[in-house]
Amino acid sequence: DPRTYKPATDALRDRVVLITGASDGIGRSVARAAAAHGAQVVLHGRNVKRLEAVYDSIVAANGPRPSILPLDLEKAGPAEYDALVAAMEKEFGRLDVLLHNAGMLGERAPVEHYEVAKWMRTMHVNANVPFVLTQKCLPLLRRSPDASIVFTSSGVVPRPRAFWGAYLASKWASEGLMRMLADELEQPGIRVNSINPGKVRTNMRLQAYPAEDRATLADPDAIVAAYLYLFGPDSRGISGQSFDAQ
Ligand code: NDP
Repeated sequence: DPRTYKPATDALRDRVVLITGASDGIGRSVARAAAAHGAQVVLHGRNVKRLEAVYDSIVAANGPRPSILPLDLEKAGPAEYDALVAAMEKEFGRLDVLLHNAGMLGERAPVEHYEVAKWMRTMHVNANVPFVLTQKCLPLLRRSPDASIVFTSSGVVPRPRAFWGAYLASKWASEGLMRMLADELEQPGIRVNSINPGKVRTNMRLQAYPAEDRATLADPDAIVAAYLYLFGPDSRGISGQSFDAQ
């Protein structure tokens, strides 16, 4: 069961792992846990100060020295993606793991009143970016002997419901992309899966449920097992599946 997976301390040794949205919340916890298991982590996010704090915490814990690649995914165009991929190519020559974790909630509103510009931005960050970034990273992933791509799903995929707007539509799109890619990448054997984190104590969750008792939510550090499972060699051959982190 990936939720209770206990990796060896060096399970991710020498694996190059790109995590989007590693500056906060779930991405930050997964980045720290991957580094603690030997991964060479590439920290993507928007807020450089927060990225540097994650970098410092990994170094302080004697993890492999990570890299920082800041990029605003709302604004990034082809040149910025090419620069990001070129930086990884120069430093590592390959990519073993790509985690699409960065995301935005958008607004909670009925479709009838949903702000069109916000819909576009949310669809872009949550669904278009994973497409573009996957396409741009594929040449580097193909150089890995054991590549893994992980998408971030949500409870709104199995249980669609009112007022989730572009967040719901984008998570369905991202899940569809995951399934399609798993089929397309069966040869050369790049596995593609998704994880639904469940209810996790982060800023996004607070934004979605402002009145909720925070004590009832999982700490992001407590839900990393499924991620480490899909990042490492123990999930070899598993593809096109949706996992729950809790
Ligand atoms: P947080 O809001 O805590 O973190 C979001 C991360 O995404 C931050 O690192 C943020 O970077 C980054 N990000 C957002 N927008 C951009 C952008 N335009 N450009 C670059 N980076 C950006 O969210 P969570 O940790 O809660 O969520 C992580 C993932 O998990 C999301 O895909 C979310 O949909 C999913 N999820 C979360 C659940 C939960 O209960 N928390 C439940 C189900 C799914 P920065 O801080 O630098 O702006």
